[in-house]
Parts: sequence; C-alpha cells; structure tokens
Amino acid sequence: MKLRIALLLLCSAMVFGQGAPVASSSGKPAPAKTAATPAATASASKQSVTHPWAVVLHGGAGVMNRARMTPEREAAYRAGLNEALTAAASVLNKGGSSLDAIEAAIQLLEDNPLFNAGRGAVFAADGTNQLDAAMMDGATLRAGAVADVTHTRHPISLARAVMERSPHVMLIGPGADAFAASVHLEQVPPSFFFTEARWRDLVHDLEGEGLPVPPRPAGVPPAPSADKPRSSLFDLSDDGHRFGTVGVVALDRRGNIAAGTSTGGLTGKRWNRVGDSPVIGAGTYASNDSCAVSGTGVGEYFIRYTVARTICALVQYKGMKLQDAADEVVQHQLAAAHGDGGVIAITPDGQLAWSFNTPGMFRARIKEGGKAEIAIYKDEP
Ligand code: ASP
Repeated sequence: MKLRIALLLLCSAMVFGQGAPVASSSGKPAPAKTAATPAATASASKQSVTHPWAVVLHGGAGVMNRARMTPEREAAYRAGLNEALTAAASVLNKGGSSLDAIEAAIQLLEDNPLFNAGRGAVFAADGTNQLDAAMMDGATLRAGAVADVTHTRHPISLARAVMERSPHVMLIGPGADAFAASVHLEQVPPSFFFTEARWRDLVHDLEGEGLPVPPRPAGVPPAPSADKPRSSLFDLSDDGHRFGTVGVVALDRRGNIAAGTSTGGLTGKRWNRVGDSPVIGAGTYASNDSCAVSGTGVGEYFIRYTVARTICALVQYKGMKLQDAADEVVQHQLAAAHGDGGVIAITPDGQLAWSFNTPGMFRARIKEGGKAEIAIYKDEP
C-alpha cells in the first residue's frame, strides 16, 4: 500500500512537475528551438534533453495459476514489480539514463527472492545457482553479457561492467566472477542465492526424472521438517515452466533506449547450459534504430528464433508497429514451434509493447505523465 501511494505521488510529480516534453521520433535529442545567446543555448540544449521517458519490465512468463496464487503471494509479486518500476521511473524522471534505470530496477528484482534472478534464482541439477545476465545500449550498440556466474550479487551490474569496462561482450563462469571482483562488484557466497522454495523445485524435478539429488549447498539453513507447513508466499512450485526471469527496457529523456535481462535460467539445467537471456539478439537486444527487447521463456527457442533481434528487424526493415512485430514473433513464430514465453519492448518514439503466449507474465509499465500498469494474468489489460 505504501508503495502504491509512493508511486501515485511520483506520478503526480511527473504530471505536474514537468514542462511540456519535446517529442521527437528520430531517436536523437530534439533540436533546441531558440539559441539567441550562449546562456540561451546552454539552457536550450538542456531543455532539448526532454523526450518523454518510459519503462517496461517483466518478472517472467509462465503458467500462472490463479487458483494457486494466494492473495498474499499475488500482492507480494505486484509490490515487487511496483518497487522496481518506481525505481526505474525515478531515475528516468530525474533525467538519468536508460542504462541507469534498468540497472536500478533489476538490482531490486535480483534481491527479491520471488524472482528467478540473483537471490531466489532456480537451481541447476548439481545444486548450484548459475546466473546469466545481459545489458545492451541502443545508442551505441555496446553490449555486455555474463553466464554461469556464481558469486556476484548483481549479475546485471556485472553485465554492464563487461560492456563499459572490458573490451569484450560476453564472459562466463569463474572468469566472469573474477572480472567482477577486479572491478569491485560485490561478491557473495553461493548460499546467498539460496531459497528453500527453489531448492524444493529442484528436488521435485530431479526425483521426477529419476536423477540423483545433490546435497544441500554449504552454509544454507537445515532442511525444514516435513511436518512444518509451507509458507504460501514463497511456495513457488508450479505445474509448468518455472517463471521469474526479470527484464527491463527503458527510454530516457535523451531519446536513448536500452535493454537488460537477468535470470537463474531453468530449474535442473545441466552441463553449464546457457539460455537466451545473455545471448545478444535472443533474449536481450537494443538499438536506437529500431527497438529494445527483453524476453522470458524457454531460452532454447528464443535463441533459435533470435527473438529479440527479429522483433527489432521487423520494426526496422518492415516498418511494423512495435506491438505487431512482438505479436508476430511471440504469438505466431514462437507459438507455432511451442516455444513458451513472452517479451517486453520499447521504441525511441515511445511505443511500448508486451506479448506472451503463456497464461501469464509478470509485467509493469509506465510512461512519463501516465499511470503505472501492473499485471500478471492474460486477461488483465
Ligand atoms: N529464458 C530463461 C532461460 O531460458 C528462463 C526464463 O525466462 O524463465 O534461461
């Protein structure tokens, strides 16, 4: 409730606190209107940084079963989405960059045990959390990605560091964590990422497949006794795909778009499997010439169908509206291949879209001066 009120206050500040935004559809800062004196030029160029900002985020797509979603659990998810949206909106409203907004929002989602990223990530079959993330800057086409990270608290910040502070695009495994430590990103023991609910999901899956169950990770609390009632809030088990990957796309006042995605991947993954989230063009993509996309779903399909880049290519080369392009890939191409999942997307001219072929997708969006929308199920607007 407090968060809702805070967001409402923020929205009113957005509506009443700004001058009329200068819109431009080119993706470049709008030109200054008058420049009579150097002082006027300076203030005009400041004012030229006035594209209306916008942000869209997701917290994973999958089988969201209303019957199994208690009111408390649903409220907790909505609060988590709202908190992340508010963080991104506040960065953008102050004139911050789309990259800063994405990092701020995803850090919160990574720390939130409800989502499959950072703390609360799903477990691989060997009982470890192997984290993947990517970030892409639409203004420059620079990108950074990491896979199989096990010690870095915020994989999204590591992806950004790869983009901004290394000559590379993708780092994996111990090398990625070593780079994180070398640029002073917070390192944590693997037990930091542990949650009982995700562990139970792993045990359930492995037993179902007749695979060996690894020992509980070092440093985690002892297994709760079988007769102890489960906490309904964190009982994430579900019949289908385990959702919770997080992603954010944003448009800042300079007219720059960007995308970021962070995930623990799929429960029970083996052999250092890497999904789509850190694969540029599959689960994450951004270009000011077209759009920014973050995906969630069964990553193998997103990689094969180069989902994020294909959506942006439809916008760029076919001149499609963003929503139509997202629907074409998610509702037609992916759905025909039984590739479950969804995307969020944004363009430099302020089109926002989401599209998913699963019963639900945790999602939220807001445009400067507009109202926040937060939704879970398919039948919500
Ligand atoms: N796309 C992620 C992966 O395959 C998982 C997800 O979105 O839930 O790694």
